[in-house]
Amino acid sequence: EPEISGDFETFMSWADDVRTLKVRTNADTPRDALQARKFGAEGIGLCRTEHMFFEEERIFNFRRMITAETVEARKEALEKILPYQRSDFKELFKAMEIYPVTIRFLDPPLHEFLPHTDEEIRPLAESLGMTFDALKARVESLKEFNPMMGHRGCRLAVTYPEIAEMQTRAVIEAAIAVNKEGQNVVPEIMIPLVGDIKELKYVKDVVCKTADAIIEEAGVELPYKVGTMIEIPRAALTADEIAKEAEFFSFGTNDLTQMTYGFSRDDAAKFLNEYYTKNIFESDPFAHIDENGVGQLMQIAINKAKPVRPDIKLGICGEHGGDPRTVEFCHRIGLTYVSCSPYRVPLARLAAAQAAVKEKMGK
Ligand code: PEP
Ligand code: MG
Repeated sequence: EPEISGDFETFMSWADDVRTLKVRTNADTPRDALQARKFGAEGIGLCRTEHMFFEEERIFNFRRMITAETVEARKEALEKILPYQRSDFKELFKAMEIYPVTIRFLDPPLHEFLPHTDEEIRPLAESLGMTFDALKARVESLKEFNPMMGHRGCRLAVTYPEIAEMQTRAVIEAAIAVNKEGQNVVPEIMIPLVGDIKELKYVKDVVCKTADAIIEEAGVELPYKVGTMIEIPRAALTADEIAKEAEFFSFGTNDLTQMTYGFSRDDAAKFLNEYYTKNIFESDPFAHIDENGVGQLMQIAINKAKPVRPDIKLGICGEHGGDPRTVEFCHRIGLTYVSCSPYRVPLARLAAAQAAVKEKMGK
């Protein structure tokens, strides 16, 4: 673990005095959250909940939930998942103490989470009470040619609302539990990959019904926020509609870049080098904001959302959030915060300060 010296702290405190942009972190584990706090993170801007399912028993139950053919079988798997999710969120809330935590609902590229081999399918079929052949056919039916543009994000919550229900329960129960122990957590639930207001409305309705029932039953007061990612061009273009249902926006510039350029975030590196050497691109659009394209979409979204909801919170949580050039751009367009990986938090704090100084000097 890197040591943080007193001189560094003093220097960074000067930067913090100047900047207006908040810096949060992307973190899915208490370890990352604590590391980011040491680096000065002022909250979690993105907790990717699908990252909480890599461990063996968890992925098994995740696969059960995805491949189950009936709601009952899916609910059985979700019952198994709920306790870990609840304790995951409790730990994150505890690690972040007074700082806000944004929990992004499931957004798995489905192909990475499906069983791949017969050895993986066999125990799964048994636990679901299906024959091996039936489950194999079911898994085949879930495979997609283009998973990154497929059945993920809020689309999964629309087809399987039980998943959003379970995640809401886990978030709300975790917040109630830590608040009983003296914290004052206001959970922020973030719905991914929204392209149409009706998708957001549908999922938000599931979230609010579930949350309100739990809160009422517990007899406590618990404010919570529901917001969305802006990561599909159509969401940016219809942000006035979307802002009616979202208390905050977080720009997902990884997907927004992928979909604005129309090239795959997983494969573009294979040809982009040629683009740099031939001066077609100056730099990697997945690393630095493309002000003309993706940046314009962000600006359009903000211009459309502000009149509808003047106090809307605006953040960014794509890889760009820790890139100094992008941080400057985010300052200029008036975001509330950037969110980046823990080790980039100090750099983002400095870049935010530099952006504020530049603005004051009229540059
Ligand atoms: C994004 O798309 O920019 C984002 C933060 O979400 P993910 O990387 O998980 O798709
Ligand atoms: Mg995304």
